[in-house]
Amino acid sequence: MSVSDIQLQNNVKAVLAAAGTKARVLAATKTVDAATVNKIYDMGVHLIGENRVQELLEKLPLLDKRFEIHFIGRLQRNKAKYIVGKVALIHSLDSAELAQEIEKQASRRGIVQDCLVEVNLGGEQAKGGVALEELDGFLQRISGFEHIRVRGLMGVVPKTEEKEKLSAFFTKITKKFIDIKHQNVDNSNMANVSMEILSLGMTHDYVTALECGSNLIRIGEGIFGARAYPPAAEEN
Ligand SMILES: *Cc1c(COP(=O)(O)O)cnc(C)c1O
Repeated sequence: MSVSDIQLQNNVKAVLAAAGTKARVLAATKTVDAATVNKIYDMGVHLIGENRVQELLEKLPLLDKRFEIHFIGRLQRNKAKYIVGKVALIHSLDSAELAQEIEKQASRRGIVQDCLVEVNLGGEQAKGGVALEELDGFLQRISGFEHIRVRGLMGVVPKTEEKEKLSAFFTKITKKFIDIKHQNVDNSNMANVSMEILSLGMTHDYVTALECGSNLIRIGEGIFGARAYPPAAEEN
């Protein structure tokens, strides 16, 4: 990881400009050392996301306290206890079992944990996320948990350069997001479910995601430069 300060500044500027007032920019900080991460705060990125529990716990004491920190990676049930209450938002809620564990840990701490439900748009087995068709039923189940508040959705899509395919995936989830948001207005038994945050788009596809309605983009390489380790190890 050796991005120069000038490069970092230019990358941040470009991403912030693209996001404009439409979307928040989350810097995906996996493999990036805390000292480098801290540099982006004064450049204007105030939101970061980690996707490994161990790495987050190690970096946490070294990170600028002003950052808003999210957890964006796949979360194993037995590790939820390390994360609940330590991050402002968990993007990867995707099973009833995980919800149960987050509920238990949040209840124990006397807090309400904000989460996004992760949606797997391409049906890829290797990635987490509930299918779009299962989302309504899943939200019904989650709405029973008093210590979880669902604030929106995170979408994961297959890696592809084909803009039409990407657009189709992103548009599908955006429509669903808006549908649920409207349903929610008079759905009092889903009081802890709201649709405010639509986390869509990474370095290679954020331009399309923004066109399709994303209001939070998650950018790693586009800010910090290429990562050294193989993609398989970082699949969400
Ligand atoms: C790594 C990661 C990102 C950012 O990926 P880039 O391609 O580096 O922009 C976004 N979301 C999740 C869940 C990630 O793990």
